Amino acid sequence: MSDVANTEAVFLHSRKLSGFSFGPEHPFKPERGERVYRMCRGRNLFPDPRVRVEMVEEALGGIMERYHSPAYIEQLKAANSGDAVELEMLHYGIGTAENPVFAGVYDFAALSATASLRAARIVAEGAGSAFNPCGGFHHAYSDRASGFCYVNDIVIAISELLRAGKRVACVDIDAHHGDAVQAAYYDTDSVLTISLHESGKTLFPWSGFERETGDGDGEGFNINVPLDAGTDDEIFLALFRGIAMEALNVFEPEIIIGQFGTDMLATDPLTHLRLTNNGYIEAIEMLHRRFPRIVALGGGGYNLSDVERCWTLLWVELAGLTLEEGYGGALGGVFLGDASIEGADLRDMRHYTTGPVKDRLREHADSLISHFEREIRPRLRGG
Ligand SMILES: [Zn+2]
Repeated sequence: MSDVANTEAVFLHSRKLSGFSFGPEHPFKPERGERVYRMCRGRNLFPDPRVRVEMVEEALGGIMERYHSPAYIEQLKAANSGDAVELEMLHYGIGTAENPVFAGVYDFAALSATASLRAARIVAEGAGSAFNPCGGFHHAYSDRASGFCYVNDIVIAISELLRAGKRVACVDIDAHHGDAVQAAYYDTDSVLTISLHESGKTLFPWSGFERETGDGDGEGFNINVPLDAGTDDEIFLALFRGIAMEALNVFEPEIIIGQFGTDMLATDPLTHLRLTNNGYIEAIEMLHRRFPRIVALGGGGYNLSDVERCWTLLWVELAGLTLEEGYGGALGGVFLGDASIEGADLRDMRHYTTGPVKDRLREHADSLISHFEREIRPRLRGG
């Protein structure tokens, strides 16, 4: 075994993954990975021998077979040429406007899952954390593409951790419900799945209500925190602390697998939540302080400037670094008023929802926390 046990954090990077395109009109931009990598490199955030970058440019053979059905894989392979959509593909969710056929679509899926698998192995072998920005495809089912997701790299990574005998919890803070990860572990207590997301009343995939708590042995081990439109940092953090952290403290995972999409931010074009990256990173810090071993995967995020700043802040936290000041001018002026916070130039301005909307959000948050205390906590168990 390598010296991975002394490694604080590993950044999985892939030039090849960043080079794919879902098409000019599609909101999902794989180039985000390259942008985050460059921002981190430009700020000297890979400096330490205990922090390193690992390139992932070749897909592992059989990676898709770890979760997906043979019939689905066959259709995705057929789509890889990027040629016309065949009718049969549509049965598997491939070739729609949201999950388009593009050149290399199979290669993209297999390579992103390889990077997530690698991240899981690195942490299983003893590293602190590993980050694959091009991962977190939480809507892909075993036999169906959905919501820009062709491969469920999260399930593939979790399976690897379980195989290594690790106790795992999945924490998904993307604005969309992690429906396919929920489905994969709905009837088992072997994995705790927690998803905080915009309510299915207003956003795809229209699921993830608090009463979806698991079945059979899994009852209580699936936790949904549906957030109403307008949710800001304060409400989000109250729920993250009052439900997600409370549940994790009972379950006591060794390793957290995180879907850390950034589309809950106020400036994201696809969603209706109102967080800033201050709330985002505060939640990650809370998690990381208590559970230092994290397999961090990307996810949604459709305002590229938000994504790169958020995931740079995420990397700084995972790697245990501090930001140097003095880069503010290069970033187009997203400043935080509070000069006492180091590296303030990556941070958003703080803003909060107010008035009757905030009152309703508070009431909703209180009812979600009571539901957790009443219906879920009594069923949860530690390892
Ligand atoms: Zn999303």
